[in-house]
Amino acid sequence: MTSFHTLGLAEPITRALAEERYSTPTPIQSAAIPPVLAGRDLVGIAQTGTGKTAAFALPILNRLAADPSRPEPKTCRVLVLCPTRELGGQIVDSFHTYGRHVRVSTMLAIGGVPIGKQVRALARGVDVLVATPGRLIDLHNNRAIRFDRVGVLVLDEADRMLDMGFIHDIRRIVALLPANRQTLFFSATMPPEITRLASQMLTDPVTVAVTPSATTVAMVDQRAIRIDREGKPALLAAILAGGEPVDRALVFTRTKHGADRVVRSLVQSGIPAEAMHGNKTQGNRERTMAAFRSGRIRILVATDIAARGIDVDGISHVINYDLPNIPETYVHRIGRTARAGATGFAISLISSDEMPFLRAIERLIRLQVPLTGGDRNWDAVSETRERPGRQRSGQHRQARSADGAAQKRVPRRGDKRRQKYEQPRGEAGSARSRPDQGIGGIGFMNKPRRPGMQQGSASRPR
Ligand code: AMP
Repeated sequence: MTSFHTLGLAEPITRALAEERYSTPTPIQSAAIPPVLAGRDLVGIAQTGTGKTAAFALPILNRLAADPSRPEPKTCRVLVLCPTRELGGQIVDSFHTYGRHVRVSTMLAIGGVPIGKQVRALARGVDVLVATPGRLIDLHNNRAIRFDRVGVLVLDEADRMLDMGFIHDIRRIVALLPANRQTLFFSATMPPEITRLASQMLTDPVTVAVTPSATTVAMVDQRAIRIDREGKPALLAAILAGGEPVDRALVFTRTKHGADRVVRSLVQSGIPAEAMHGNKTQGNRERTMAAFRSGRIRILVATDIAARGIDVDGISHVINYDLPNIPETYVHRIGRTARAGATGFAISLISSDEMPFLRAIERLIRLQVPLTGGDRNWDAVSETRERPGRQRSGQHRQARSADGAAQKRVPRRGDKRRQKYEQPRGEAGSARSRPDQGIGGIGFMNKPRRPGMQQGSASRPR
């Protein structure tokens, strides 16, 4: 079995991983770490939840540990660009965690907080600078940072950065970097503009793809409920008030105002909830995240962009209050549950105008999401859902693939143990074994293949 040691990582790093109880590299880690250690450029097609942060952080730490020279003032040795403050914070946390036994300095440069402290911190120089593009440009304009010492550039969630309007900032920054750097480029999807950007920035890259379907869709018990728009608030309240065994729920809305409206209606129903979106201040977002992480807030209502960087284990339920019109976004959303091997639950509330979105999602995931409802009463909905082919707790039910073939076995809602659902590999005709997309794990490909662009309302941190 592959271990972190056999991937070629140094002992202080493997020790930190052992302390974190990471026993086995994830597929993206096994595939990406050796070529990155060897100095290759990399395109990683992977979303949050696949272990992609460690896939770049570990070989970078290894490289820095092997060359312990100090950074020059106002420079960084590694530059990580990411779209949101939340994701930036999580990347820095990962570097701290995995790099606790090596002497590496790390800094976060994000918008929404005063710039002075960042300017002062950069005066000494830093090994790893994690930044959102807008703030980095501001720091560069302030002559707080120069880029001529950057040996490694990481672009994380490149597709999201494109959606958020960062493309010009990224091009400006990249033009200022040394040409002989190593570049690691991560994106959940590869729409044509991203493919073009990657081909301009990378030299002879290794491409590693982990499809989200393998790690997320198969692990999530998905259901959809038909409900008219007016009925959604009451149904959501009923689900969260005890209709479901919710430990921690993430509710998605398409818009920021929608998120606020949902929070208001939940609070009116006596269910504490908080909203998380781009109109909130940085302080507010940090407090909300801390409360969600600690369990003080059980229900978080978020837009896709705001939720993008949320890395919280133990989300038992993802609820799509609105269904996204981009099918890949659905996969990203439900990937928030079923983290680190846990089984999660995804419930989508679907009004009639959203049915075409559901069909598009089913085509993407090659799975028919069980659809019930038309009733605003959760107990009635839940009864209808469970009646056909009712099985005892702990047994499995079968979902059907979009073409009607027996598809996958998922644990039932009533299974108290909620054991990790081990998916059988290589089942003919299943979503996991679709050879054209390498679903089921990892693929080295000459060309990135997953088309389809992510979109979203742009809140642009500076
Ligand atoms: P990421 O995709 O980087 O957001 O990582 C998703 C989650 O998986 C994070 O909470 C990591 O701490 C965790 N993780 C990453 N790699 C491993 C691993 N090899 N074993 C166990 N957990 C991991």
